[in-house]
Order: sequence, then structure tokens, then C-alpha cells
Amino acid sequence: MYPMSTVTHPPAGPTDFVPADIDATRWETLAPLYQALLDRALKCANCLEQLILDRSELDAAAAEARANLYIRMTCHTDDEAAKKGYLDFVENVSPKLKETGFELDRKIVESPHRDGLDTQRYEVLLRDLTAEVELYRPENVPLETEDTKLGQEFSEVAGAMTVEFEGKERTLPEMATYLEVTDRATREAAWRGVSERRYRDHETLSVIFDKMLDLRGRIARNADFDNYRDYAFKAMHRFDYGPAACADFHRGAEEVCVPVMRSLNRERQEALGVESLRPWDLGVDIKGRDPLRPFKDVDELVTKTSKIFHRLDPELGAMFDSLRDGESLDLATRKGKAPGGYQENRDRIRKPFIFMNAAGMQNDLETMIHEAGHAFHSILCRADPLLHYRHAPIEFCEVASMSMELICQPYLGEFYDDAEAARARRVHLEALARLIPWIATIDAFQHWLYTNPGHDRATRQATWLELNDRFGAAVDWTGLEQFRAVSWQRQLHLFEVPFYYIEYGIAQLGALQLWLQAREDQNRAMTNYRRAMTLGGARPLPELFAAAELEFDFGPPTMKRLMDAVAEELESLPL
Ligand SMILES: [Zn+2]
Repeated sequence: MYPMSTVTHPPAGPTDFVPADIDATRWETLAPLYQALLDRALKCANCLEQLILDRSELDAAAAEARANLYIRMTCHTDDEAAKKGYLDFVENVSPKLKETGFELDRKIVESPHRDGLDTQRYEVLLRDLTAEVELYRPENVPLETEDTKLGQEFSEVAGAMTVEFEGKERTLPEMATYLEVTDRATREAAWRGVSERRYRDHETLSVIFDKMLDLRGRIARNADFDNYRDYAFKAMHRFDYGPAACADFHRGAEEVCVPVMRSLNRERQEALGVESLRPWDLGVDIKGRDPLRPFKDVDELVTKTSKIFHRLDPELGAMFDSLRDGESLDLATRKGKAPGGYQENRDRIRKPFIFMNAAGMQNDLETMIHEAGHAFHSILCRADPLLHYRHAPIEFCEVASMSMELICQPYLGEFYDDAEAARARRVHLEALARLIPWIATIDAFQHWLYTNPGHDRATRQATWLELNDRFGAAVDWTGLEQFRAVSWQRQLHLFEVPFYYIEYGIAQLGALQLWLQAREDQNRAMTNYRRAMTLGGARPLPELFAAAELEFDFGPPTMKRLMDAVAEELESLPL
């Protein structure tokens, strides 16, 4: 049992430092309050604690203003004022918040009264703020701006890619749907169209990437690190696992997941009746069935999802229903709405918001359950007075969401007959078995990239191909070698958010452990879920895992225990 009683929160609820009706979308209204915090004299540890709480309130007001602008823009992409409102905030308020936020970090970290704070309560906060202060170098500010600009260049090049297909110019996301059609020749033509289009820009993207590697190396050296990997780990607040744990993950993926994935692909090859499995054979339903259609409209989606959560756990069911208040969900796809799905916190009123583009597909149902998991997390930890602790590390946020996708599987009968439910479960587990090796590929590649500065492009390409052999599916790339060699360029994380990716793998291991718990004793699993999510980000990552009785370990033995269960479950489900 996790010792909950050692975490004592000050009374919840807002302080009166920030006016209730503040217009936090404007820097002019925020600035005097931030200045007051910076100027405030701190005579004791209690003063410091009050400063931290008041700052938290102000940060929450600013964060909620940004979230509301973002929500408005994504719900109404055809509304120019909404777009302008958000962009104004990003351009004019966000940089000021960052600058002032850093000054406040320093004031807190360098305060002589910090030793008087409750050590356990403020451990995580001080650890994070101290890292920010220690890493800060004024000479890195322009380099980071440059890196962001290169990221935008990448986005522009990648976003401008289109393919002429079946008489129409199509975007690459549009093209992806052709990989699911049953006609093999169409799939091949679509795959080749996309790969050739990407290949045309591979030089341009390599030039951008070389500049990024160089910049990132300089940023690291300016901050007294040997290489960018070690700098990035500290900047991403990865205090609780390092490169060795990532290498464990890679080994686990290689020894345990890759064989499962390859045997799934052999099954697939036989079922499709093809001589060899080609890259365009991975997305199609192996029996040529039409896509699953779990619901007709959003009302049906919400009503039945609510039933699932009530059957799983009455408390979660009630939480889900609390989102049906007319202002916390925007689910149906429609013209004038941004693509994708997300869960945003409105940090001041402490209510989550879920956005998605539901169109009646299985994928939409998964998104609904996933984002609901994030919303449960937000609701469970919202009593914490510190904004910093109302957000957990991403490695644990995704446990909240991914575990729901797995644990809700036995209740898919709300949407499907038995055969359809089995098919939906299989699709999810297969995707999971394929994703872990891909995460390992991307992560191992990044470790190599940044610990081998000055490498040339040929060596980079050779390393990428080696990693693909190590972690790749048994797929026949004959005649497609040139596309495979540059296929790392489709992973935007490498360009835009270096090192950010293994988080999803770590979280999946936590989610799978919770799923195993639920198979044995659902009440215990749900009690663990609620206990751990209530902590938000108030404790270090290993303690968050421990609070849910999850092992914080990524190596082959842990991976084997989990993937054996996945393989066994897959075995029990018809193809
Ligand atoms: Zn998520």
C-alpha cells in the first residue's frame, strides 16, 4: 500500500491574489501581477510558500486564457477573430510569460527560505525549477529561436507535400486511407506515390536536420554538457530514468516485441495469400471486411461510452457524465473544425475539455476512451492547489489514457456484437505490438544521433538501416531500398521535439500492467488507478507508478510478462 498520508496538501482552492474577472488574454493585465510577485519581499518560508501559491493561481489564469483561445480556434477554424486571438496570445503573451516565469523560478530557487519548505511536498517542484535555472544560458536564447524556426521550415516542407492520385491532388494524411483498401494494386500505387513524393524533398530535409543537429550540439556545450542527449534529458526533467533505462527498453522491444510482431506479420501474409509482405500490406483488414462502425452519431457515442465507464467503475462513470454539461465536449466532426483530438485543461475552473472529430469509426471510439482517461486524471488531481502538480509527467499522463483503452475492452459489447468486439480488440493489441518496436527504433536512433556529433549522412543512413533490421517487421523492401533509407524523415518528432517519443512506450508498459491487474481483480486495479491519478504530478515518476502498484522498469523481463499476456489474448481472438 502506498503511504498516502505522508502527502499533506495545504487547503485547496484559489488564493485571492488574482481577481476573479481578470482578462488573462492580455499581457497588460497580467504584467502588474507578475511584477508584484517579482518585487515581493520574502521574509520567511511561509512568505515563499504564499508566493508559490499566488504564482500558481496567476499561471493558471494565463494557462486557462490560452486554453480557451485554443479551444475557440480549433472549434471554429473559419472564424478569423478566433484565429487572431490565439495567434496574438502565442506571439505577444507567451514569450513574456516564459521570460517572467523564468525570473520567478530563479527567485524561488535562490530564496534563502527554500530550506524551510516542506521537503516532501516541494521536492518535485524545486527539482524542476532548479533544473530550469541551472540550464539557463542567455546565449542559448537566440539558438533556441533558430531551432524553432528550422522546425517551422520542416513543417512547411512536409506540410506542402501532396500527391496526384485518382485524378485529384491529395494531402499525405488523405493518402494514408488508401493503405486500408482491399485492392492491392491501389495500395501499392498509393504507397509509391507518397514515398516518391517524400523522396523528392529528402535532400532539403537533410539540410534542415544537419543544421538542427549542429545547433543542438552548441546549445548543449553552452550549458556545459558533452552532448545534446544529456542536456535534453535534464531539460525534459528526466530525473528518474536515464540512457541505460532507455537501452533496457530497446532490448526488451527487440527480444520480446519484435518476435510477436513478426509472427503477426507471418499470419497476415498467409491470410492475405501473398508471396511476400510488402510495406503497403500492413494497413488492410486481412479478411477484406468493411471498417467497423461502432456508432451513428455523437449522442450514441457518449451514451454508450458512459455505460462502459459506469460498468467499469461508478466513480469514473459519474466523472464522465460530469463532462456532459454542454461546454466540456466538442466531439462531432464538421466543416470548420481543426483535425485530430485532444484533451485540454481549463486550469482555473479546473475542468477538462475534450475535442475530437468523431465520424463513427473504431478509431473515434478509441480516441473517446483515451481522452476520457486524460480527463479522469485531471479531475482526480484537481484539488491540488499547485498548478505544477495538477499536471503529471507525460510518461504517466499516458498511463491514465492508454490503460483505459485496454481496461474498457471487455465492455465493447455496448457498441458491437461478439465478433466485432473481438475484431476491435485484436486491432488494438496488434497496433500496440507494432508500436513498441517503432518507438525503440526512433529512440535508439536519437541516442545515436546526438552521441555521435559530426557524423556524415552516409553513416547516419547506415545506422538507420541497421536499426530497421534490428527492430523492423519481416517486410520485403526489395526495390524500395532508397525509400527505406530516408524513412526516418517521416517522424516529425525527430525534427520538432527531439527525444520526445519513448514516453509513449514507458506509459504503454504501465498501461499494460494495469490491464493485467484488472484482468485479475478489477476493483483493485481501479482503486490503484484512482489513487495514483489523484497524485497528479506531486511525486516523482517512480512513485506515481508505485502508487498504482506498477513496476517502473522497461527491461526484457517486464516486457516479456506483458507481451506474453498480449500474445495469449491475441491467440484467443479470431483473426
Ligand atoms: Zn494521450
